[in-house]
Amino acid sequence: MAATAPLPRALPAWRPKRVLVTRSAREWAHGRAIMERAAAAGIEVRELASDRLMLDNPDDPRRAYTEAKSTLAVVVAPPSKRRLQPIAPSADWRVDLAEGCPAHCSYCYLAGSLKGPPITRVYANLEEILDGLPAYLGQGTITSRNRDRVHEGTTFEASCYTDPLALEPLTGSLSAAIAWFGQWQAAAQLRFTSKFADVSPLLALDHGGRTRMRASLNPRAFARFEGGTSPVAARLAALRQMALAGYPVGLTIAPIIAAQGWEEAYGALIDDAAAALAGVPDLDITAELITHRFTAGSKAVLDSWYPGSALDMTGENRSTKRTKFGTEKQVYDAATMKALRSFFERRIGEALPAARILYWT
Ligand code: SF4
Repeated sequence: MAATAPLPRALPAWRPKRVLVTRSAREWAHGRAIMERAAAAGIEVRELASDRLMLDNPDDPRRAYTEAKSTLAVVVAPPSKRRLQPIAPSADWRVDLAEGCPAHCSYCYLAGSLKGPPITRVYANLEEILDGLPAYLGQGTITSRNRDRVHEGTTFEASCYTDPLALEPLTGSLSAAIAWFGQWQAAAQLRFTSKFADVSPLLALDHGGRTRMRASLNPRAFARFEGGTSPVAARLAALRQMALAGYPVGLTIAPIIAAQGWEEAYGALIDDAAAALAGVPDLDITAELITHRFTAGSKAVLDSWYPGSALDMTGENRSTKRTKFGTEKQVYDAATMKALRSFFERRIGEALPAARILYWT
């Protein structure tokens, strides 16, 4: 891709219909800054009298979904949410700057993780969240166990419960976290992955090489499963911009969907990614490969949110896997997994030999 090539258009930034701000969130400067940004953008800002979030139509599930997905709530993360959890294989620790996402992916893993209407909540006490991180330094298990990752230090994943880039124009949380890691004189890395493409606020930050952005990707042919996200070409162009700005980068190919034509579709995606990153000096690139899976619980929620989705969640080509928490999930069966894995490892090796594959799951 020539440096002067026109960039594919990203979607306009997410504009929630309303921003709800709890009483406690208004006590934090970051919370007040988000309120000001929303008000300046002409978005309705409601200052709540307490810390309880109420929606207009909580009894009608369809309306509740729509209302929730168009609401940004500014809240305070309680101590229980600030206690970090290990998050293998993506990173040593999960750090949440927010919870929830405005997009409408018909496989969204949040459906099985978050309870209640899917309001996006951003944390006002960002300073407190970041100040808690040094206590975890050197305690990771992923980076210390994996020789390929040891130079990255202790890793902190910010995309487990949200897509932080989707919220960035209103929240500024991701920029603040990147700048904070940039100044942290420690062997540590912030990580985020995104299906969005507006990286303009991040390009000039003093990141110190301590944040790795990955583009979360699926082929264009599967874009129908990813409502409200940025076009894949825009995500790849954004990744190039980040790499040129000196960030370590990566591909999160997720969730890998073994639908008809997957080989051609993913082959073209890998070629597009290689073309998008061609000629970037000192490219530091990784790949994470995550196959589609679901639980009975997440399927029930997704079926109610996206009735009529063409995403296959029948038992075909699936086998049941028990998690370490004793629950069951449906993953692709051994033959499908084998075919997928050997294809991805071969195609990435051919098209993007510089990419270190961090894991397959
Ligand atoms: Fe869920 Fe990610 Fe899609 Fe957001 S972008 S709806 S977090 S899968």
